[in-house]
Amino acid sequence: RTEYSISGRSSAIQSGTMTSHMFSGLLERSSPSIFQKRFPDLDCFSSPQLDFWLRPSHPALPVDIRVPFASLQAVKVFLESHHIDYAILVKDLQVAVDEEREEMVSNQRRERSSSDFNYAAYHSLEDVSIANISDRKKSGVGSEKTPTSDTGGTNRPAIWLDAGIHSREWVTQATALWTAKKIASEYGNDPSITSLLNTMDIFLLVVTNPDGYAFTHTNNRMWRKTRSKISGSLCIGVDPNRNWDAGFGGPGASNNPCSDSYHGPRANSEVEVQSVVDFIKSHGKIKAFLTLHSYSQLLMFPFGYKCTNPADYNELNTVGNDAASALASLYGTKYTVGPICATIYQASGGSIDWSYDYGIKYSFAFELRDTGRYGFLLPASQIIPTAEETWRGLMKIMEHVRDHPY
Ligand SMILES: [Zn+2]
Repeated sequence: RTEYSISGRSSAIQSGTMTSHMFSGLLERSSPSIFQKRFPDLDCFSSPQLDFWLRPSHPALPVDIRVPFASLQAVKVFLESHHIDYAILVKDLQVAVDEEREEMVSNQRRERSSSDFNYAAYHSLEDVSIANISDRKKSGVGSEKTPTSDTGGTNRPAIWLDAGIHSREWVTQATALWTAKKIASEYGNDPSITSLLNTMDIFLLVVTNPDGYAFTHTNNRMWRKTRSKISGSLCIGVDPNRNWDAGFGGPGASNNPCSDSYHGPRANSEVEVQSVVDFIKSHGKIKAFLTLHSYSQLLMFPFGYKCTNPADYNELNTVGNDAASALASLYGTKYTVGPICATIYQASGGSIDWSYDYGIKYSFAFELRDTGRYGFLLPASQIIPTAEETWRGLMKIMEHVRDHPY
């Protein structure tokens, strides 16, 4: 019998608190369908309220679930009755969320007294926007909702990089901020960055989903979607990475507004998506589209909405593997490389499928650290190591883009 390991995670949001439990173990290959059959609306806010941090996907990948305290017994009975071994990874998620918050508050105090921006800490939306990134124009770096653009004359070929389209993936916004600083401060010092910026512009959007990001600070740390109102539903928000015009509404996206993977009423319904699409179309010379997610340690390329390989499969696979090796060379962090569909699951309406179909050959999505020990609550002490290693992978791709004009 074919088996694969899973880990599950559970928690509750009850009167402002979360209680979380986390599982790992062995599961039969048929388990995804068992999950679906037993919990047909498992990702909706109906009972049981399960929040899949990692959905059932490739047999080699775990399943992580945050379960409300009230559903904990039912989930345990379900797992045990299907002979699924599990382990609790985080017993009380609220404790981890509280610790993260305390660390942020004390960092904020330190920053205000020293006026030094600490890239090794998580920041609120307001504090991200006051990060002092010098030479912003040169590198085309912006942290606003609408990216700043270097329109100083010639329209050079450019690289697009965004983070935080899923708001709870905090290490991505933090990594992008470090990256912005790196690019802006090392132009003229680092030969590789200098040569890149002498040829191309880099447009970097640090907080792609600002309303969602603010909400993760004020209300619900585990918020993933936008905050738009959906007519005819009490539920809020669209999954902005199911909202792009690429196989829109197909497999791997939900038409239920209460789902965390709700694709929205129509493609580009979300201003966060539409504004990026408008920018890329009006620029006209974007040659790479790179996007940061967390977690799982994957480097993926199209397609997600279908399971056929892209025409540039061989080149993208080679570049992806080179980038993953460069990334691993710093701290040994291992990434899996491949098309979205083969690596995780079929998922429609994703950004890199849209960019690839639009003609941007070098379209890649990173899933940063970790593989489930902390999940979305990656300790701030891992921000800089994550950013440093990711930078090696990003540079590998960007150098390839520079050296292979099309
Ligand atoms: Zn994501």
